[in-house]
Amino acid sequence: MSTQDKPAHFDTVNLHSDRSDKPEHGSLHKAVHTSIAFEYDDARDLAAVFQGRKSGYNYGRQQNPTVNALQNRVTRMEGGQGTVAFATGMAAIGSILFALLRQGDHVISSAFLFGNTNSLFHTFINFGVEVSFVDATDSAAVRAALRPNTRIVFVETIANPVTQIADLEGIGALCREHGLIFVVDNTITTPCLFNPREVGASFIINSLSKSFGGHGDALGGSVTDTGLYDWQDYPHLYDNYKTGPSTTWGMTQLKKKGLRDFGATLSPEAAHTLALGSETLSLRVERASSNALALAQFFEAHPRVRKVNYPGLPSHPQHARAAKLFRHFGALMSIELIDEIDCFDFLNRLQYVVSSSNLGDTRTLAIPVAHTIFFEMGAARRALMGIPDSMIRLAVGIENIDDLVADFSQALA
Ligand SMILES: *Cc1c(COP(=O)(O)O)cnc(C)c1O
Repeated sequence: MSTQDKPAHFDTVNLHSDRSDKPEHGSLHKAVHTSIAFEYDDARDLAAVFQGRKSGYNYGRQQNPTVNALQNRVTRMEGGQGTVAFATGMAAIGSILFALLRQGDHVISSAFLFGNTNSLFHTFINFGVEVSFVDATDSAAVRAALRPNTRIVFVETIANPVTQIADLEGIGALCREHGLIFVVDNTITTPCLFNPREVGASFIINSLSKSFGGHGDALGGSVTDTGLYDWQDYPHLYDNYKTGPSTTWGMTQLKKKGLRDFGATLSPEAAHTLALGSETLSLRVERASSNALALAQFFEAHPRVRKVNYPGLPSHPQHARAAKLFRHFGALMSIELIDEIDCFDFLNRLQYVVSSSNLGDTRTLAIPVAHTIFFEMGAARRALMGIPDSMIRLAVGIENIDDLVADFSQALA
């Protein structure tokens, strides 16, 4: 769209994404297409679409114009070669495992993991997939866990709730060296703060339900193929999916065996809501990040707060890594209060800050993690992840910072 030599910046590309594919009637937004079936004037074209000889729509579980527009938007934001959207972020992660792994394969995952992703890996362990959970802040731990049957290395950028930052560059190099699929969950950083392709990610996960959509009103997830992985020697691909360049084969199988067969399809209504929300992604993330940094500094100086985990603080173990890799430090942090304060009483005293499980909303949300999202995991695993009972996770929103500081001040008083 640009006539200049220089490629446009992230925000500009994002805002004009729908127009790059020319929506119907000159609409500025892609319309919400609700039809699940598509008519062909020439039945031969219908056959060609089914056989993959022609691009087109066949059935709403696999493709939809509104969802396609969102997929193209994510692809542009991540600088990838293609994206497939799912009903949720969990469906996106699950479909990768379901489509590309077989019994006897080995996965190395960060031990610092979204609770439901951790639970999902344990389900795959019951199906005969081996999973090693390692300290992904150090690529040496990943290297030590390598086995001849290792296929995938899975990490999050900023882990929830302790905010550990994976050794993204080191692990990317290791995966390249050993021909491993490197999956990076970019949900907490979003494509606005970090582009996992720069560290060699093969697949980028985004839960679109969080900061991407940004208003806590629609679920969605996506997998972006960076095109960096060559599937030539990957053992579990079906021959009929090996068409076109070998860097696309894995994505083809993910679309067929993951999206089509497992069927966790994103609805066109949700796709529209998420696309609309994402137009202000940078504005929201920048504001939430600056609020979070100010709050982290406030908590670190407060005598009633024992510990603050936030990558923007120089006291954070991976602060230098975060400063190098991410454009801002994000909206996620966790705090531990001194023993004298009951975390439930503290949360109940907050007036603007909402007790809620979500993150990436416009509003600031807080949750006592050991009692809720990490409860099912059990005390032993929580201890390994560094999650004490007093920990509160904050997903900082875009309110006025003075009001947030005032609210936390009175709740701590
Ligand atoms: C929320 C979240 C997911 C799952 O996304 P859903 O859309 O809720 O299924 C995955 N990874 C991370 C890091 C998340 O925060």
